[in-house]
Order: sequence, then structure tokens, then C-alpha cells
Amino acid sequence: MKADVDPNVIVYFNGQYIPMRDARIGILTHALHYGTGVFEGIRAYWNPEDRQLFVMRPSCHYQRWKQNCSILRIDVPLSADQLAAITAELARRNGFCTDLYIRPLAYKSAERIGVAIDDQDAFFIVALPFGEYLHSENGIHAGVSSWRRIDDNAIPPRGKICGAYANSALAGDEARRSGFDEAILLNQSGHVAEGASCNLFMMRRGRLVTPPLCENVLEGITRDSIMELAVRELGIEIVERPIDRSELYICDELFFTGTAVGVAPVTRVDHRAVGAGSIGAVTRRLRQAYVDAARGRIPAYRRWLLPVYNPDSAGAPQTALAGETSLA
Ligand code: PMP
Repeated sequence: MKADVDPNVIVYFNGQYIPMRDARIGILTHALHYGTGVFEGIRAYWNPEDRQLFVMRPSCHYQRWKQNCSILRIDVPLSADQLAAITAELARRNGFCTDLYIRPLAYKSAERIGVAIDDQDAFFIVALPFGEYLHSENGIHAGVSSWRRIDDNAIPPRGKICGAYANSALAGDEARRSGFDEAILLNQSGHVAEGASCNLFMMRRGRLVTPPLCENVLEGITRDSIMELAVRELGIEIVERPIDRSELYICDELFFTGTAVGVAPVTRVDHRAVGAGSIGAVTRRLRQAYVDAARGRIPAYRRWLLPVYNPDSAGAPQTALAGETSLA
């Protein structure tokens, strides 16, 4: 995430809406030392025709967040609906009329030395203007990492636990230093798990294949959205089964999915062309369907979206406000 961050952006911190420059955490905070936080990543998409900002599947994200928090015994004392309402309010208070990335983070907040956890919890939500995460419009080159995906019995990858992201950071850093755009991690059994920050799908023999959730992958919400779009809009069959590394080299199409990356076509893997070496037809159609659904352009998927601005009024403020950028 390389966007410049405005310290005057209003964030939700310790139950209050305050400027980010005033939201401070002590240097002995448990989560900083031991990784004992759980985060989420949510996007909101600006629709210029309707002058509306849509938060993508906020209830799913906040339900997942609360469930994941329970893995680490972190209590977030608000419902998913209340958290979604705070998110929309944050966007309104900042007057955002642009694409956003929203980062809720709950953590063990005691300020002391000692790894054992207690019941002192805190959380915040930050919403920032945010464009593309991976420049994938022409396809990206992915490399299989020498780092293995952490196992459910070590740090559960489905938990989106802060400390677990050292695994993704190591793999992503290695991949970029080796000239790749993104890493693909194998799990402890040697099967393909996922990207450093995204789930993975391949097309083989007319079917869309992705690793099942018990292969040490995040239970991706974009993964779920893409599966629904593939079945309902494209009539494609989904198969959840383990994937061998060598299948990546002979599949017809390959792509990543994630809140940050969207649908990112992989056109080269480990220096080999995927299929014809260009973006595949199914990937292209799914990518477009996802963008259209997320921006509120497909009525059937409006149920995924939370409109931020009052739909009965003329929409978002007409004047350029803080955060108005050319990202949309
Ligand atoms: N896997 C990992 C490791 C991730 O960090 C992410 C991003 N949250 C994903 C997959 C994609 O999940 P989602 O579609 O819910 O963003």
C-alpha cells in the first residue's frame, strides 16, 4: 500500500472519530511485539454516474473479522452491522468520493512485557483513498516461493492474524527481489495454497479449480464472489481440490483474487507462459463482471453493496472534498 497518507484523515479509534495524527499506540503494546492482532481489508468503490460510494460486502468482512478475532480471544464489542455503519460514517466524515481501502484492526492492547494474552483489547478502523494494488491489467508474472505457507496448527492462515503476515511478507519480498510481481506459496504438503495476499484459481479442462479452504488458505471473500459470478454469470463449474505445483505450468488460465488485487490475471508463472501467455477469456470476463458488480452496475449484485451516501438525495456532495482524487 503506497498511497500517501493524509494525517488529517478521520479514523475510528477507541470509540471516537478523530484525526489520524491523534491516534497513537504505545511502544509496549502487546500486538506490536507478538503479532497478536487480527485485521481486515475491505474496499469501497466509487460510482461516478450515480455519485455513490459502495462498500463491498461489509457484513461478510465484519463477520469474518469477528470470527477471526475469536481465534485469538479478542473481543470486538459491536455487531457486524454496527461496524459497517461506522465504516460508512467514516467515509462520509471524510467526504470521500473515490475508491477506498478500509483497514479494521483489533489487537491485544496491554502495554507490558510478556507473551501471554489477557483480556485487554482495542480496535480501530481506517479508510483511505486507494487505487490499484497490483498493476495487473496486462497480466503479471508469479513465482513459486521457497517459503512454505504457515500451517493451521502453527498460526491459522484463515485467521488474518497480524503476526502470520511475516510469512506473506517474506514470500512477497523474495518474489519481488527475484523479479516476480507476486509470490505463490505451497503449503506444508507441497500443494499450491495461495498468493502472499490473494487466493488463486486456475482453468483446466473447462473448469475453474481452486484449493479447498482446508489447504491453509484465507477464506477469501473475493474468492467467494468470483465463484458465484463464475457459476451464475458464466455457467462455469467450480472444483475445489488440491493443486500440484506442476499444474500451474500446464493450466489454461491462472489468476489471483483478493480485496486489494481484485481479479489479477497471471500470464507467466516461474518463467513459463500460462496458456497462450496472454489474459485468458474466462479471466477477462470474470474480471469485468467483478468490477461491474463492485461498482453497482449489475442490479443482481447490489445486495453485496452498502451505499455510503443517501440514495434518496442527489448522492454524494457535488463539491470536491478531502480525498477527491482521480483514482476512480
Ligand atoms: N489470501 C491472503 C493471504 C490474503 O491476505 C488475502 C487478502 N485479504 C486474500 C487471500 C484474499 O481475501 P479477500 O478476498 O477476502 O480479500
